[in-house]
Amino acid sequence: MASLTPITVAMGDGIGPEIMGATLRILEAAGARIAIEKIEIGEAVYRRGLSAGIEPAAWESLRRTRVFLKAPITTPQGGGFKSLNVTVRKTLGMFANVRPCVAYHPFIRTRHPAMDVVVVRENEEDTYGGIEHRQTNEVIQCLKLITQPGSEKVVRYAFEYARRNGRKKVTCFTKDNIMKLTDGLFHKVFETVAAEYPDIDHEHWIVDIGAAKLVDRPEAFDVVVLPNLYGDILSDVSAQIAGSVGLAGSANIGEHAAMFEAIHGSAPPLAGQNLANPSGLLLGAVMMMVHIGQPDVAAMVHNAWLRTIEEGIHTFDIFKEGASRRKVGTREFGDAVIARLGMSPETLKAVSYAEKAGEPIKLTPAPLHHANKELVGVDVFLDWDGAPNRDPEQLARDLSKANGDGLALSMITNRGTKVWPHGIPETFCADHWRCRFTPAIAGGRVTHAQIGALLGRIAAAGLDFIKTENLCTFDGVPGYSLGQGQ
Ligand code: NAD
Repeated sequence: MASLTPITVAMGDGIGPEIMGATLRILEAAGARIAIEKIEIGEAVYRRGLSAGIEPAAWESLRRTRVFLKAPITTPQGGGFKSLNVTVRKTLGMFANVRPCVAYHPFIRTRHPAMDVVVVRENEEDTYGGIEHRQTNEVIQCLKLITQPGSEKVVRYAFEYARRNGRKKVTCFTKDNIMKLTDGLFHKVFETVAAEYPDIDHEHWIVDIGAAKLVDRPEAFDVVVLPNLYGDILSDVSAQIAGSVGLAGSANIGEHAAMFEAIHGSAPPLAGQNLANPSGLLLGAVMMMVHIGQPDVAAMVHNAWLRTIEEGIHTFDIFKEGASRRKVGTREFGDAVIARLGMSPETLKAVSYAEKAGEPIKLTPAPLHHANKELVGVDVFLDWDGAPNRDPEQLARDLSKANGDGLALSMITNRGTKVWPHGIPETFCADHWRCRFTPAIAGGRVTHAQIGALLGRIAAAGLDFIKTENLCTFDGVPGYSLGQGQ
């Protein structure tokens, strides 16, 4: 007998146990060669005072099996609870979220009958580090971190995924016309990696117009790779315009572990009524079967599911008078899929998964060039109320007292807009100022000691510095933004 692959399963909250029950029954009937280890996550664990919603012992199972099939959970209302999904993804280094968004026309209502898009979202970086600080009375900051290795992993994964799954094109969305350095890095990595895949088309769109095109003509897209925040939004939008968020499954892929789930939540009002649609979790489980090297089971389940949908056997959420034939509950839907194991769809396209479709994708990164880094100045951020007029000229006069030791104030910006020198009174200013100090004689190098001494002089001048950012060049290229404005 073939050996069983251990997987970790969480039944979840709300509709979780019902849709997981149906999913596991279908997998078993299809002959899945898996050994299930159950862990408890979610509401009950949060209520026991564990702010991440997961027991310490559960990590042992996850780290051993490296495969997690997870039903949705309920996050209790109120503060103090961490997102379990974010915790699991980041703790186990699941850098890519893969979400196929497919239309099942004419069986499920959609405005985009030919849509077949796979969204690959970066999963660990961007603003999702949750590094936030209130810095002044008026201003709160969230750090957006984009790394070269993080971008390369997800972009390379998207191209490898495209190649392995017979996809023709990878599209990248960023906002690098505004965030020239952070989104600029993601875009640059995309272009560099794309050059290694001449067999796959590639294109880049600014995210706003790209998103508009995606919702207008999704059939023009194939694989789409995005930084975390844009990906979070556009993967839900894509699933919804394909037909229903209730139908999409997703995979969270890492080098050490992978997690498979539905994209919807625990739908508490539906719980315990045998109403919920198990399709999203089931399609997540299909991706898991491919991942663990059982493409035969994956294809059998997926094709039986397509056949069930095609025969109009629908749960209430996708049931449509005229188009659907039989309205069923969670359990009966599961029975219908089981009864069709071994069958293929007749109108929808049958799926097949290559024998090696689940082999780990090798993400050998290109060697990283170590740039020559030089410290050339510092931005000192101040909390300055500036009553009564909040006049940047006044701030510049006060701050100039801190000039010395080779450093001089060269620019002040407010919310990124240059307000000194040569500001204009119409520019709105908050109480948060970026004050740039650079060598008094242009072109000189700066030392950490100079910056430390500068901060001492700023404090002595009675000004409240809230943080600093060193200004560095990398191989002579400035690694910092300039002030916007005239
Ligand atoms: P939800 O996805 O649970 O529900 C949104 C809507 O979709 C509701 O109308 C619901 O009835 C319907 N729906 C969802 N799944 C369905 C299914 N399988 N079949 C039929 N209809 C379905 O989102 P929500 O109401 O915002 O959140 C409920 C809870 O789920 C919250 O506690 C939230 O934090 C949690 N949540 C968990 C996850 C996760 O575990 N991955 C994801 C999202 C939300």
